[in-house]
Amino acid sequence: MAANPRVGNQHASEPALQLAAERAYEYLRTVEKRNVTPKAVALAALEGFHEPFPEGPSDPADVIRMLDELGAPATVATTGGRYFGFVIGGTLPASLAAGWLVNAWDQNTALRVMSPAAAEIEDVALQWVGEALGLPGDCSGGLVTCATTANFTALATARQALLSRLGWNVADDGMFGAPPIHVVVGQEVHAAVLKALNLVGFGSKRVSVVEADGQGRMRADKLPRMDRSTIVCIQAGNVNTGAFDPAREICERAHEQGAWVHVDGAFGLWAAASPKYKHLVDGFEMADSWAMDAHKWPNINYDSGIVLVRDGAALRAAMTISAAYLQPGAQREGMHHAPEASRRARGVELWAGLKSLGRAGLAQLIERTCEHAQRFAAGLREAGFEILNDVVINQMLVSFGSAERTLEVIRRVQEDGTCWCGGTVWQGKTAMRISVSSWATTNADVEKSLAAMIRIARETVA
Ligand SMILES: *Cc1c(COP(=O)(O)O)cnc(C)c1O
Repeated sequence: MAANPRVGNQHASEPALQLAAERAYEYLRTVEKRNVTPKAVALAALEGFHEPFPEGPSDPADVIRMLDELGAPATVATTGGRYFGFVIGGTLPASLAAGWLVNAWDQNTALRVMSPAAAEIEDVALQWVGEALGLPGDCSGGLVTCATTANFTALATARQALLSRLGWNVADDGMFGAPPIHVVVGQEVHAAVLKALNLVGFGSKRVSVVEADGQGRMRADKLPRMDRSTIVCIQAGNVNTGAFDPAREICERAHEQGAWVHVDGAFGLWAAASPKYKHLVDGFEMADSWAMDAHKWPNINYDSGIVLVRDGAALRAAMTISAAYLQPGAQREGMHHAPEASRRARGVELWAGLKSLGRAGLAQLIERTCEHAQRFAAGLREAGFEILNDVVINQMLVSFGSAERTLEVIRRVQEDGTCWCGGTVWQGKTAMRISVSSWATTNADVEKSLAAMIRIARETVA
């Protein structure tokens, strides 16, 4: 095959794009029928990618053919309806399709002048997210890769804002010799927040850990004294139990004492988009910054993290890059609201997904997945197994008896391939964790998965 692409010939893209579209349809058409996890033969075939860096060019369509033939069978069917591991959503059709189109546009969203369309659409998407979650209308935000980066961005902002109030300029003087900042987290804080704290210069010994209750909620009555140099990190949606910290009480106390409240709401904060579950998120709107993922519960394609900050000037102060040719105009500039400068136009996929759902669709997605989690809990309880958490949203934990038996059930569930669930240890107890986060999960998927879990658990003797 002749070397392609020929210089400057955009038509050279067509065969590869058409082939990719056909293969993508085929993948989505058959994903429900295949095992959730790849077969051993598919994993072995990945060896085919390990060739020396080719000396010469390849035809783009041949590249896609190889990718699909070797890669697709070794994917995990997270976009299907029976993947319940970690907290992993599927991809909404509009969001996926918008991703194709926007990749063809190849827009850099660092500055508005590089892509007016992407910049404007990103503004709208951020506005909608704030509205959907009931957050203050005047907050500023950035689109980043994931909740870890969103937490990092918010905490870097909090650090700089608090130190500035204490008369210390982080941008000029760095962190060495800065007044100490006191960080407070709950005992069941997500490890991503600890990583983000580390990245902004707060080692784990600088962090006070507040006792949590049996659901993983920070105990407000155990909060230490706080002051103007304190950052309190609270959680909306514990990754194991789905539980919410008592935000109203914590925010009131923290703000009386001049502290900054940051929310890790990676998936749980989206409960605010449902009239039925909104009460769980009460008080979180009082915080100073929020980190969340659109690639989890709202089912936007990867990667899609969001940071929102009440004090927009503080976010910009922490994230601005100064260079004569990068000076912002009067409007919002993406790169001055996030750690990255050059960025893909993930705001377009976010916009497309939210536009296709509307408020009602987003609420239904939240509610439907929570109902599925309730059905899992009821089915497993009826079968005689112990549910370890109050199932408040889409997360649930089940024990099949001893740690050994539970681990063996998890191993066999994963191997069986009907569905996929991971393991965890919840407050000392080994559990299988079920997260229902995908728009694609149907009642039939739940029943089929439940039947497989119960059959496997009964076959598994300690
Ligand atoms: C998933 C999760 C994170 C990390 O999210 P990434 O997008 O993987 O970086 C942080 N906090 C909580 C509560 C989470 O569920």
